[in-house]
Amino acid sequence: MERSAGAGAVSAPAPVTVLAGPTAVGKGTVSAAIRARYPQIWLSVSATTRAPRPGEVDGVHYRFVSEEEFSSLIDSGQMLEWAVVHGRNKYGTPRGPVEEMVAEGRPVLLEIDLAGARQVRESMPDARFVFLAPPDWDTLVERLVGRGTESAEERERRLETARVELAAESEFDVTIVNDTVERASDELARLIGVRDLT
Ligand code: 5GP
Repeated sequence: MERSAGAGAVSAPAPVTVLAGPTAVGKGTVSAAIRARYPQIWLSVSATTRAPRPGEVDGVHYRFVSEEEFSSLIDSGQMLEWAVVHGRNKYGTPRGPVEEMVAEGRPVLLEIDLAGARQVRESMPDARFVFLAPPDWDTLVERLVGRGTESAEERERRLETARVELAAESEFDVTIVNDTVERASDELARLIGVRDLT
């Protein structure tokens, strides 16, 4: 495994890159930076049963679907992977668009949870698996329970989840440390084989 936080040689780009990591590490922020700064990379649009948040656009940030639509995507084999995240909503990667982009030779990025990454490892062993890590444990704790509005039990539950999720790092090909969003997204883009256009 390469643990890289800056320079360092990387091997040839894979057609599909999977970005995963612990809750609250900032995967969403890093992938939003990729979307904004590296339009050459195609960021998969997940289907989800959760409701849109203000500012989220259907078909851009997510495909917002009903429980029935989500089930029929699974039943018809159209999901590359899917998971229930945080015990609440379902999220999944529609297979068709990923395969189309790969066929076109466009680099593909999936930003998904750990359970989803494990499924992709089974079905797409050629993908590259990138673990987004916090700079240190305290930073992750700060992001997880920073506002201090949770009960002691909820706080302990989240910290235990974070410990388990951090232990998954060894399953991944490469680790990128999310010290700053800009640096981490630049490193990810370089790994994917794409250069800054600016
Ligand atoms: P949010 O609801 O905050 O947008 O996302 C919550 C979590 O869902 C994030 O950890 C994100 O990585 C995960 N997620 C988003 N899309 C997918 C997907 O298609 N598959 C899986 N397995 N997880 C996803």
